[in-house]
Amino acid sequence: MMNITEKVAYLKGLVEGLKLDEKDDTVKVINAIIDVLDDMALTVADLDDEVELIGAQLDEVDDDLASLEDDFYEDWEDEDYGEEMFEVVCPACGETVYFEDSALDDDYVVCPACGEKLEFDFELDDDDEAKDE
Ligand SMILES: [Zn+2]
Repeated sequence: MMNITEKVAYLKGLVEGLKLDEKDDTVKVINAIIDVLDDMALTVADLDDEVELIGAQLDEVDDDLASLEDDFYEDWEDEDYGEEMFEVVCPACGETVYFEDSALDDDYVVCPACGEKLEFDFELDDDDEAKDE
């Protein structure tokens, strides 16, 4: 199958083969049209190359992104992903750590960064414990 550049070249050859009178007004119009077609074919061919290049680059970006996502989600794979996570700054080590909402059902969670037990004291009457010192 001919591409657009080859088709225009073929058309050009056909018209040249007719040995038309180049001074004839109709022939001038035909030649002008072929000139435009020629320009367009070259532009389209350039665009084709460009799109192919961008497509290849996009594939690379896509691959990179996929491997980043794999790395990022690897840690959560075995967890019940989809459950709401909440964020806590560990008072022992200062790390920001993440727990599932269901962890709140326990009395404490263990900080994955330092291994410290973190207790959730949501009850206000726990306050006097801290003021005891
Ligand atoms: Zn910690």
